[in-house]
Amino acid sequence: MAQWSKKADRCVNCGTVRYPHKARGYCSRCYRTSLKLKQVEAWDIEKPETMGKSARMFRLAPYLDKSQVALVKRSFEHKKAQEKWLLVRTLEHYRWTEELLREDVTGIDLEFKLEAIAGLCGVRKRKIFHGIANCFDDFNQDQRHLLLSFLNRIIENSPRATRLRQNRMRMQYERQQDSSGKLR
Ligand SMILES: [Zn+2]
Repeated sequence: MAQWSKKADRCVNCGTVRYPHKARGYCSRCYRTSLKLKQVEAWDIEKPETMGKSARMFRLAPYLDKSQVALVKRSFEHKKAQEKWLLVRTLEHYRWTEELLREDVTGIDLEFKLEAIAGLCGVRKRKIFHGIANCFDDFNQDQRHLLLSFLNRIIENSPRATRLRQNRMRMQYERQQDSSGKLR
């Protein structure tokens, strides 16, 4: 088999060979995310050019008074921290899903994936596949792997799944902020 890249035999973040090598040992998917993370880390409210489109939301216009400036700066810091969190969690999510694809596949793994896809399709009954895990008992590991990888492909190519995951991550960040706020 041809080597994945000159320096790495699989992605340094997620460990996949399913995506082509992009740069610095990252697959194309992880590279895109890690690049975005670097860009967000470099966001500087005093230098709008570092923020791209997001800069519009945090314009420090000359007519703002001191308290308004403080407010804009606070919401900028919040947004920056939230975006960083989202990208770090996304890289983690890629690692975790790839790990699942490498491990032994259980009937429960398949049941969960099917339920996730049913959820994306908007089925009314949430537990539509509840208890079907043992239907896969007679499948060998190769068969289970193949099925899991196909189901996984649906999810990772679904813009809706990506959007929902990002919303979930943002909410998780807010909840975490809330609880650390309460502790203070
Ligand atoms: Zn990767």
